[in-house]
Formats: sequence, C-alpha cells, structure tokens
Amino acid sequence: MIDGRTRLCGLIGNPVEHTMSPVIHNTLAARCGHNLVYVPFPVESGKLEEAVKGAYALNVLGMNVTVPYKSEVIDCLVETDELAAQIGAVNTLVRTQGGYKGYNTDMSGLHRAMKSEGIRIEGEEIILLGAGGAARAVAYLCGAQKAERVYLLNRTADKAERVAAEVNRAYGREMVVPMLLSDYRKLPDGKFLAIQGTSVGLSPHDEDVVIEDSAFYRKIHTGFDLIYKPFTTRFMRLVREAGGEACNGLKMLLYQGIIAYELWNQVEIAEEEAGFLYEKMKREMGIS
Ligand code: NAP
Repeated sequence: MIDGRTRLCGLIGNPVEHTMSPVIHNTLAARCGHNLVYVPFPVESGKLEEAVKGAYALNVLGMNVTVPYKSEVIDCLVETDELAAQIGAVNTLVRTQGGYKGYNTDMSGLHRAMKSEGIRIEGEEIILLGAGGAARAVAYLCGAQKAERVYLLNRTADKAERVAAEVNRAYGREMVVPMLLSDYRKLPDGKFLAIQGTSVGLSPHDEDVVIEDSAFYRKIHTGFDLIYKPFTTRFMRLVREAGGEACNGLKMLLYQGIIAYELWNQVEIAEEEAGFLYEKMKREMGIS
C-alpha cells in the first residue's frame, strides 16, 4: 500500500512506454517487502538537468536512465563510478549526499547474466559484433574481465577502430582487433564466444542477421545476443544450427535491474528471486 513512507524510484528516458523495468522493480519491492514504487518518467529533450534536480529535490531514492540520455546525464551527477565513467554511459543513479552518483549496471548486468549461464570472459577469444553504445561497453567489460582477445567486427570501419584504440589504451595492451564486418572470413581458425551487439534482428525485423554464412557460425561455441525481442533471434538459431549454445539478452536486462535495485536498497537479491523474476518477465513477453 502506498503511504507516507513510500519511497520512489523511476526511469527517465524518451520514449519509456515499452519498458520492462517497472515489472522488475515493483516485483522485487513486493517480494522483498520494501515500501517502494517504480514509475517511468518520459523526459523531453532539453529537460534532463531539470528532471534530475527535480527528482533529487523530491527525495527520489534512485533512477534508471535510458535512451537517449545515458551519456548526457553524466553532467548532471555529483560523482560517476569508474567503469561507467570509462564507458561514458550511465544507466543508474544512486542518491548520495548532495546529488546522484552514476553507475553502469548494463555491463555488470551482462557479466552476471553470463556467469549465470556459465559463460566465461577471462582468457577467452571473443568475437564482438557491433561498435555502437552497447558493443562499446561490452568491449570495456571484456577488457576489465581480462579476455584474451576481442575481434570487433563492425559495418563502419572507423567506429570499430575508434572503440578498439580506446579500449586498448585503457587496458594497456592490444587486446581488441578492429575488423570490417564483411571481412569475417579473415577471422583466425578456432572456436569463439560471440557477442551479438548490433541492432540487427531486433523486433519487428526478426529475420534479419548481420552474417548469414553457416561457416561463420561453425566458429562459435557460444553465442550471446544482447537482443531479447524476439526471444529467439535469427543469430541464436544460426548458432544452434551450427552446433553451438545460444542465449538472448533477457538475463542481461534482468540483472541490470537487480543490480540497480541492490544499489538503491543496499540488499542482495538471491538467485532464487532472480529466477522467479526471470519467469515473470518471460510471461510478460508472452513466453511460457
Ligand atoms: P547503436 O548505438 O545504435 O549501435 C547499433 C550497432 O548496430 C552499430 O554497431 C551499427 O553499425 C550496427 N548496425 C545497425 N544496422 C546495421 C546493419 N544493417 N548492418 C550491420 N550493422 C548494423 O545501438 P546500441 O544502443 O548499441 O544497441 C544495440 C543492441 O543492443 C540493440 O538491439 C539493443 O536492443 C541491445 N541492447 C540490449 C540490452 C539488454 O539489456 N539486453 C541493453 C542495451 C542494448 P554501424 O556502426 O556501422 O552503424
């Protein structure tokens, strides 16, 4: 029940209508017995600073931040966590003395999702498809988690080169190798973990995929698609048809939410609760 002690958390972005975050946080609040509600707030262009200051003035406990404000919001914060500052993107604001501190739980969420699927980054040879906002953050995660090598394949060469140079500089070794997507046949022999970080294949374009060639998929022992709509992407199907394991980005979404909730409420969410929430998110998506 909402009463005089109810705490508020929310999401700022534009648009925010199709978000799954209220399901995540309101379910966690109910399951944990916390007096907290989570609400999406559409914020119009030019109003971000006012929105963040207004939220702080209203004693809002924490916020998620989504497209298009993940970079711009950094200028509205009193402090930014080191990895989030490196990546240059913040998706979670945590209330502190005098303002909000920014974190990137998308990346810690992806890491936790991979761990829950038994996927390792440390020491791995990785193919990363894409060099946009999400893939760039994944490249940093691979650096932080000591991947052996990341082949970063992107349609636009200079974007791949820029991300590779940045991450290599940050981690002091030539671990990211930029490549043109169309040069995938030049990948070395071997078996790779492949992370699909482009927007190709996102609903309603379910049948699209960046590479069609089955020879490419035979190089993949595990394929992780950041997309979760559709639940099974064409990329995942091609990985499975070639004999590999594949998963989608729903657990990444789940864990980025759980980590934000943990930061706001200073609690630890048990794996059992994560499992319950994951099933609920699947039902929300119409997946049984
Ligand atoms: P973005 O910044 O717009 O980047 C898009 C990427 O896709 C770029 O690398 C772009 O290549 C590539 N691309 C787009 N159209 C292409 C095409 N026709 N052929 C080849 N490459 C193409 O997007 P983003 O924010 O990084 O998001 C990427 C995906 O990650 C989205 O589908 C999003 O839903 C997903 N995501 C999931 C989660 C989660 O919680 N599971 C979180 C964040 C993002 P160019 O550089 O050549 O344009």
